[in-house]
Amino acid sequence: MKQVILIRYGEIFLKGRNRSFFERTLINNLRTAISTIPCRFTKLQGRYLVDEFKSEDCDRLVEALRRVFGLHSLSVAYHVDTDLDAIGAICAQLAPDYGTFRVTVNRADKTLPMTSIQLAQHFGGYVLDAHPHLKVDLYHADKEIFVDLREDKTAYVFMDKIPCAGGMPVGCSGKGMALLSGGIDSPVAVYRMARRGMEINAVHFHSFPYTSLMAKEKTLDLARLLTPYTGNIRVFVVPFTEVQQAIHAHCPSEYMITIMRRIMMRIAERLAIANGCGSLITGESLAQVASQTQESILVTNHVVKTLPVFRPLIGTDKEEIIKEAREIGTFKTSILPYEDCCTVFLPKNPIIRPQLEQTEIAESKLDVEALIESAMAGIEIVDIKQGEC
Ligand code: ATP
Ligand code: MG
Repeated sequence: MKQVILIRYGEIFLKGRNRSFFERTLINNLRTAISTIPCRFTKLQGRYLVDEFKSEDCDRLVEALRRVFGLHSLSVAYHVDTDLDAIGAICAQLAPDYGTFRVTVNRADKTLPMTSIQLAQHFGGYVLDAHPHLKVDLYHADKEIFVDLREDKTAYVFMDKIPCAGGMPVGCSGKGMALLSGGIDSPVAVYRMARRGMEINAVHFHSFPYTSLMAKEKTLDLARLLTPYTGNIRVFVVPFTEVQQAIHAHCPSEYMITIMRRIMMRIAERLAIANGCGSLITGESLAQVASQTQESILVTNHVVKTLPVFRPLIGTDKEEIIKEAREIGTFKTSILPYEDCCTVFLPKNPIIRPQLEQTEIAESKLDVEALIESAMAGIEIVDIKQGEC
């Protein structure tokens, strides 16, 4: 009796003309996700199988696999020869102690002398003998035991279908440049775009020495926490202090944040284009703060000339974002108390509804091009590899 993991993928993307590209990408991502754990990966008809692993590695494998986008569910199963009594005994072993259950049989092996229903009754008999308090309920069973009888005279027996992350395999939807702060929102935005199949590069603006080096490390840690979902992330760390000092010295204080954001977007777009990214990604959510009103977003967006800007959280409440951040595992790191560069020189009254013309006038006091070039000359590239955390 051998423990294996059965993996089911989401059906939708495997239909149509791009099928082989999607599937190759998914298989690559799965292999990479488990590459540090000794095991064997096999493609079966309509699903995948992982076996030949040590039983103590099983939970780690499950955790790594269920974060790979494009999967529907997986199960830890026993793989045995098709011996109906032995299978009955495994069903009895898997069954819970109380409540209701059913056995569901899939019989690919048509040479067996019984129908699927008769086989289910046969295995159910073993369960009831071992657990007389259990009751069969075919429609609303608390637990379902699955027996999959294959044509090669082997069978998979399992109980739970563990839900996976869904979505599309990362790499199927091109590459995006995410503006990654150390806050709660942008890591969730990255997660959502990666879930739609997007490979991720990230840009982080930091204001050393106004913000500590820990603020940068925190953002890199967030990127590390995201890699089980996204795969490797290349992070461009941009020194932003000079830009902020210049805005502070030359522009009206209420425009500080608006102008800062416009320069961030310009740098992000240049980096995106230079690195083969087809979009920008931010963690903005409408009306969350002054810089996230329709007018602010219009004025900020105006400087982005050639790429779409994705804001996957635009209609999401903070509470929902926090819940998602907890689920994906970034929340605790996001709330560590290191300041973001946006808090440096923070004006008392940031403009809530900036007008484009006034903003451009306010910004005209700066040599924007020189500031961008100088910031970009100081970029540090950090490659975060999947499996680093
Ligand atoms: P977050 O929690 O993602 O920091 P926020 O609610 O704090 O978002 P803002 O600080 O207004 O909102 O930032 C809006 C978006 O701008 C962020 O979601 C992120 O995409 C980008 N951003 C903000 N600060 C930085 C930074 N230091 N580096 C890179 N991107 C940033
Ligand atoms: Mg922030």
